[in-house]
Amino acid sequence: MRSLTILSAILIASTAIAQRSPIDRDAFARLPAGCVTSLGSSPHARLFGGQSWPNGVVPYALHASVTPAMAQSLAAAMQEISARVRVQFVQRTNEADYVLVRDANINSSPIGRQGGLQTLFVANWGIRFEVVHALMHVLGFWHEHQRPDRDTFVQVQSANVDPTRASEFAVVPIGNTYGLPYDFDSVMHFGATEAGVNGATTIVALPPNQSQQATMGQRSQLSAGDVEALRRTYGSLQPPVITGASPSSIPSYQAPFVTLTGLRFDETTRVLFRSAVVNFLVQSPTQLRVTPPLLPAIGPAQIVIESGAGQSQSFTIQVTGLNPPRIEGPPVLNTQLAFPFRVYSDAGRYNLLLAAFNNQPSVAPGIVSLGIGANFTSYGEVAIGLSDASGLWNVSLQGPGGLASGTSIWLQAVVFDPANFTLPLSASNVLPVRVF
Ligand SMILES: [Zn+2]
Repeated sequence: MRSLTILSAILIASTAIAQRSPIDRDAFARLPAGCVTSLGSSPHARLFGGQSWPNGVVPYALHASVTPAMAQSLAAAMQEISARVRVQFVQRTNEADYVLVRDANINSSPIGRQGGLQTLFVANWGIRFEVVHALMHVLGFWHEHQRPDRDTFVQVQSANVDPTRASEFAVVPIGNTYGLPYDFDSVMHFGATEAGVNGATTIVALPPNQSQQATMGQRSQLSAGDVEALRRTYGSLQPPVITGASPSSIPSYQAPFVTLTGLRFDETTRVLFRSAVVNFLVQSPTQLRVTPPLLPAIGPAQIVIESGAGQSQSFTIQVTGLNPPRIEGPPVLNTQLAFPFRVYSDAGRYNLLLAAFNNQPSVAPGIVSLGIGANFTSYGEVAIGLSDASGLWNVSLQGPGGLASGTSIWLQAVVFDPANFTLPLSASNVLPVRVF
């Protein structure tokens, strides 16, 4: 099985891959084997190196050299990943891009999806998390100690490194760390004496992390950091969770952003507000800004976040009306044209639009509490109407004929509920309008 013929075939295959892609080629020196990496043209890496596999689906085929026992070992390693994140290793049928798994003297894999056939050579079938380590390379991950910021955390003793394995200790400048902390516990980190000449130390954990010196390089589990990096690349098995909203109540009129707190928001694909798709901005995995639709209906509103893993639970916020109401409209009226005015109040409320003309004393003592009632004589109803579900009442007014250009009009809306008519009426701002 470890014949020279197979070995040379492997070397040829590895060279062929190396010429066109980043490759991880483990050394022969020891078991468990280390990994040699070389840079490719891939735009990102951490850790993340090659292309990711679409939807986390990695088709694979077993070479004839893989025994049933090896296949079982491989399946167990795949399961360690698939049980934690949205990655599926599936037996290849006719997919163009796939991984051919072979038994070999070395562990070797390109970094990430290459396009077409790519080969994963496995030597350490008996060490489950060495196989997991190799599968992480297949999924696009470089070694942890090759991060761009690694010199802050470890010191590489280059003089002690087996010269044939020097590239395993090279910083990958394009490495994407996802902003995650340096992870000594990563299954992608080397141990202190990996590739050391005569067992010499090759990696020194710098202060204040000296305690990691003895434990780094573990191959017994995926670290929390490994799982998080995988999640950020491929997504969780669980959908997002919403735990809070700020504000929890928004006015329909000029509904502001709603900032949600929760989990896994960085995987968001869609946000539904009352089942309608709305805009969103991911601020962090735990914070998401949602833009409510324009003039949402007043009442409870359910927000749901979708990711590749499904939908979050429904989280309810309140949309409120405006009381007192507010009137908005153009500052000028042309006597020939109709102009839109908008009154924002409560859903299902009656709105009365009143108007006054300039410089006449009030004759409307019943409504003196209103802003305009105290100052003007001619003061009358212009229109009446019912707010819609969002509290909006749209009024179209035509400039009054017979008024001199430059005349001022003041508009004010009052809102009332005919079923529960009480004084004083709730009154809006006063909107000054000039007639031209
Ligand atoms: Zn490796």
